[in-house]
Formats: sequence, structure tokens, C-alpha cells
Amino acid sequence: MTQNRFSGFKPIRRDRLIQERRHDTYKSARKLEEPTVCPTCTAVYRRGMWRWEPSFPDASHHTCPACHRLADNYPAGFVSLRGDFLPPHKAEIVNLVKHEESLERSERALARIMKIEDRDADVLITTTDIHLARRVGEAVHRAYAGELDYHYEDSENRLRVDWIRNV
Ligand SMILES: [Zn+2]
Repeated sequence: MTQNRFSGFKPIRRDRLIQERRHDTYKSARKLEEPTVCPTCTAVYRRGMWRWEPSFPDASHHTCPACHRLADNYPAGFVSLRGDFLPPHKAEIVNLVKHEESLERSERALARIMKIEDRDADVLITTTDIHLARRVGEAVHRAYAGELDYHYEDSENRLRVDWIRNV
């Protein structure tokens, strides 16, 4: 199940820049009117971007790509944290992850954590945005060392970040 979920993912070097492809499935095909407000999260689409802004009374309504992914439960980013080091430090590492999300989300309205799942083999964090997945992985690596790997799925523009530390 888990293997199938990631079957299209190929390893990439961490220093390779991943550009968000213009033709993202979750970016609206038609041009949105400006301003448009997402009825779910109240983000505002203006000047070509979704932002956190005060709402406009006469704005159009359209679900933003992040809320669309959440509704479909279709993440763009996956961060898997594992290793013997994890269990005794889980709470502080998860706090760091949430902190990175709040920093990123304040600047980029579409960057959100979807779920943090505590599974048997790992903690899996899913995100609406590949840049957030990378940021979370890099923050954990910077704070706790260990090993970090990226796998990228080109056709769907999805990123998997694996972090492991055993001692
Ligand atoms: Zn939204």
C-alpha cells in the first residue's frame, strides 16, 4: 500500500531546486477574478497570488488550491520521520515541524500541513505544498542532524522527504 503510493517517486539531490510547475493540477485552469476569496480558509486571491489579506465585501468565491487538496486528501508533500532517536524526542520534533509550518504559512497562504500521523514505523507529515515539505525536512535535519533524502514524482509534482536518525 505504502509502496504503491510512492511508486512514481525518484531520488533527487537535495541541492537540486524544485520548481513548482506552472501546470499544477490544483492550480485553477481558468483565470480567477480578482479579488477572489476562498470560502473555506478566507485566503484572498489578488495580484496573481493567494494571500492572507483582509477580505473584500464584493469578492468572488472560489476554493483555494490548498483547501482543494485538503478536501481531496491529496497531499503534494510527504515528510517521513523515523529512527531510534525519534520516539524519545517526538514531542519536541513535532513542535518544531508545527513551528516551521506557521512561519511558512504566514508568508505563503497555500503552504499547510494536512496531517501529522503517528504510525508504527514513522511519523508521516503530509503537506499541501512541496516547498513546505522541504522546509520541514531541512529544519529537522538542521536541528537534529541525521540523514535526509528527497524523492520527487515529476508527473504529479509531489515531493517525499525522508529523515532518519538512529543514535
Ligand atoms: Zn482555502
